Amino acid sequence: MHRRDFLLRGAAAGAGFLASTGLQGQSPTPTNGEVVVISTWPFGKAANAAALETLQSGGSALDAVEKGVMTAEADPSIQSVGYGGLPNRSGVVELDAAIQDGRTFESGAVCSLQGYRHPIKVARAVLDQSPHLVLVGAGAREFATDQGFPIEETLSEGAREAYRKWRKKHPDGKGPASGHDTLGLVLMNSDGHICVACTTSGLAWKHPGRVGDSPLLGHGLYADDEAGGCVATGDGEEITRVCGSFLVVEWMRKGATPEEAIDETLDRIARRSPRGRDVHASFVAIRADGMTGAGSMRKGFHQALTRNGKTEVLSVPAFVDRTTDENKR
Ligand code: ASP
Repeated sequence: MHRRDFLLRGAAAGAGFLASTGLQGQSPTPTNGEVVVISTWPFGKAANAAALETLQSGGSALDAVEKGVMTAEADPSIQSVGYGGLPNRSGVVELDAAIQDGRTFESGAVCSLQGYRHPIKVARAVLDQSPHLVLVGAGAREFATDQGFPIEETLSEGAREAYRKWRKKHPDGKGPASGHDTLGLVLMNSDGHICVACTTSGLAWKHPGRVGDSPLLGHGLYADDEAGGCVATGDGEEITRVCGSFLVVEWMRKGATPEEAIDETLDRIARRSPRGRDVHASFVAIRADGMTGAGSMRKGFHQALTRNGKTEVLSVPAFVDRTTDENKR
């Protein structure tokens, strides 16, 4: 749909949607009490399965998103998350993660965390144990140590080898940052309660201390039981520019379907970025009534979707192939 059509339609149809789903302040309930999980990239499949298992064994929705994203953090073959993640330009792995509860709006995040393979566990401890929301770098590490998390090797053999090759090409350690993919997961439990989590090693070869969208509330993730939940992956600097995940949730609050909400947000990114549509940005979302959607500026993005206990990895068509660039007219 053309974006102006959506905006016009939204004014009329959105009002009807809001009235019919109770999104004007009451707690919405999904029609059939189904658990819905959606996550980014094919490696989201294992994450969705772990999230579902956690719920089935009595865990909370927050436990489920945490355990879900831990699967990729533990897998050294995934070079953009946790153990296996590629290091910064100094050869040090710095991890970012965040978790949020869409009912209580409690959240926890760690940025540029060194020495722990599961930054999401530390982010969860920030949510549970700290009066703060975000801890960074040395302070995050000190907090993790105080919480009893043992220091671990985070540079996998594969990542060490990739870094060695990169340094050969860039002996001064100043090549461009590149290559990335975040595991973001949105879950709605059978009560219609939504939680979100994100974990990433960020851009490979990044400047030490660089933080993208993923651990920042409203940028890489956002959930509100009354509207929906969303997570992002892609160029963190571009997603952050528009408060990407918050924007998707706010469009859904106004009555947009998840796909319409994501399209609006991709369009906003294209209009606000000096790179226009030449940006990596992808989102997955669940609306408060259980409807899911995914969207991506470019080709190659996949969503992992679990409904009725069955998980599918689905290719997501590119926004740039489906729409025209209005800025070019
Ligand atoms: N959004 C992440 C970051 O900028 C990377 C990614 O998801 O591709 O750190």
